[in-house]
Amino acid sequence: MERSGKIMVLAETAKGDRPASISLELMGLGRELADGLGTSLSVVILGSGVGDAARELARYGPDEVLSLDHPSLGAYNPDLYKEAILGLLKSSPPRALLAGHTSLGQDLLPRLAFSLDCGLVTDCVGVKVEGGEILFIRPVFGGNALAVQKATTDTAMATVRARVGEVPAPSATPCEVRPVEVETPAPRLEIKGREIIEDRECPLEEAPVVVSGGRGMGGEEGFSQLRELASLLGGAVGASRPPVDSGWAPTTCQVGITGKVVAPDLYIAVAISGSTQHLSGMSEAGKIVAINKDPDAYIFKVSDYGVVGDWKQVLPSFTAALRETARD
Ligand SMILES: Cc1cc2nc3c(=O)[nH]c(=O)nc-3n(C[C@H](O)[C@H](O)[C@H](O)COP(=O)(O)OP(=O)(O)OC[C@H]3O[C@@H](n4cnc5c(N)ncnc54)[C@H](O)[C@@H]3O)c2cc1C
Repeated sequence: MERSGKIMVLAETAKGDRPASISLELMGLGRELADGLGTSLSVVILGSGVGDAARELARYGPDEVLSLDHPSLGAYNPDLYKEAILGLLKSSPPRALLAGHTSLGQDLLPRLAFSLDCGLVTDCVGVKVEGGEILFIRPVFGGNALAVQKATTDTAMATVRARVGEVPAPSATPCEVRPVEVETPAPRLEIKGREIIEDRECPLEEAPVVVSGGRGMGGEEGFSQLRELASLLGGAVGASRPPVDSGWAPTTCQVGITGKVVAPDLYIAVAISGSTQHLSGMSEAGKIVAINKDPDAYIFKVSDYGVVGDWKQVLPSFTAALRETARD
């Protein structure tokens, strides 16, 4: 079937109203798709006071930036975000809409796909054009196999993991930023307040280093040691599921099949046994270091470096050495 339409990327902002790094990565991926299909690349940004982020996005190679800037879009509200972007998608249906596999992408894209009756592929680790079709690659069976999928609908939607696309080199000649009028229906959901439980300075999915703790941390106190190590390494703290279930770490920290999927340059797994459910959330890490007192722990089989020992002895000296290096 011949299909027309541009490639669209849904951008998000990070703290400080910069474009999130996942959004810049999607610009690289979106550009490859657009060039492969001979079409254009649009980037959509929603929010309140997103002018600077929109202008920044315009430097990363899209053909246009569509800016939906409205006070009602200041914080994520699924109804308002969905309605704001639906008008745009209906008036000019894209061939594909890409978003990050982030909290926002995972919440918003299913709503959009359902409203427009579009195919949606989530958690992609690859997207490419082959024979004029867009193919989406995603892990299945707990990360033990990769499925290659395509949408049979005119518009395809996909959420893509962080660190899959390459950030394009910024250009000195940015494209046009087009303001788009925002429809503001009465939302069914009123946000009464917000509690920040995740460090948006260094979101887990985007962190170059992730230091994760498992059940063997034994309690909350162990996690404060992990936080210090992560901060010395410029990274974020993750966790396997048991510490989250026990309340030692927030749910936003969970790595794995029912948590977040991370692909940092360095993943340090402390007192984590290496279940398939956990591994499917971090097996794409560049280098994996495991600290575990059990020499037969499965995590050592997938690690590049391993330390057999009690974390209570290993971690303080490692952290102290890093602290010294940071001071020099
Ligand atoms: C449907 C489903 C979804 C799931 N989703 C997820 C998910 O998304 N993410 C996830 O992580 N899990 C998930 N799980 C749970 C998963 O099956 C495992 O139970 C979990 O990953 C185990 O976590 P762990 O490695 O921290 O704990 P354990 O398997 O109990 O391992 C603890 C490790 O700590 C080591 N240890 C203990 N004390 C010390 C010490 N002092 N120093 C050093 N090492 C020590 C032990 O040797 C052991 O290897 C899911 C399970 C199900 C059924």
